Amino acid sequence: MSKTNLRIAAIAAIGALALSACGNGGGDGGSEDGLKIGIKFDQPGLGLKDGNNYTGMDVEVAKKVAEGLGVSADKITWVQAPSPQREQLLKTGQVDMIVATYSITDKRKEEVSFAGPYFVAGQSLLVGADSDITGLDDSLDGKLVCSVAGSTSAQKIKDEIPGVELQEYNTYSECATQVANGTLDVLTTDDTILAGYAAQDAYKGKLKLAGDTFSEELYGIGLPKGSDRCEKINEVVTKMWEDGSMEKIIGDTLGPAEFQYNQELNPPTAGGNC
Ligand code: GLU
Repeated sequence: MSKTNLRIAAIAAIGALALSACGNGGGDGGSEDGLKIGIKFDQPGLGLKDGNNYTGMDVEVAKKVAEGLGVSADKITWVQAPSPQREQLLKTGQVDMIVATYSITDKRKEEVSFAGPYFVAGQSLLVGADSDITGLDDSLDGKLVCSVAGSTSAQKIKDEIPGVELQEYNTYSECATQVANGTLDVLTTDDTILAGYAAQDAYKGKLKLAGDTFSEELYGIGLPKGSDRCEKINEVVTKMWEDGSMEKIIGDTLGPAEFQYNQELNPPTAGGNC
């Protein structure tokens, strides 16, 4: 490189640095340019990527939260946030927040903060349409169960059925495929997620939910620990339930799967997990 070119390159590099410094890349609070939001890409009704189209309850909640922070939907960068990677994505600044069927737990709160809860789901079972599994009982003896590593679902099924034959994948869609083709017997996770798969065209008539729910999953909006956006987001969530926009989102996104949310547990009270 010639001397002049070197100088130009150096000036360009300084310029890029200056731009990124005032661009509020990973900035927490203040005026917002854009947000990197982690969602699921393969959970119909909750977080689903289809080409450049993103749909689902979590996507709509994320847009409302962004709007409350002064960020329009076109300034959101959607990032895939599989369950086993969520804490790491937040800790490394690869995302600013996560809205991805992300249950608030004490263990996770050691590493990240949560706004919300904005919704309460419950763990259940998804089985083949002609399966004789009736729920969390003897009918599960000897069955092959699937869930996702690092999820509350995998932990809970191990606690409930010590010695369960559990396969742990990275995503629930991998489990759903295996249950639909009969390689595995059961997918266990939140009823919201299971209802979404059961209603998918590819699986219609092939999968069904079995038994009652056996956990309470309080969905939070994951944030870097100590984030100063947390309380503001709690206000947004509270308002969403008060003004009916949350009900509308649930109806629009989970309605097609005929999912009925638990009216005793919803709406939850947002706050206390920042
Ligand atoms: N809500 C549960 C969890 O956060 C299960 C669903 C998921 O993995 O996203 O672990």
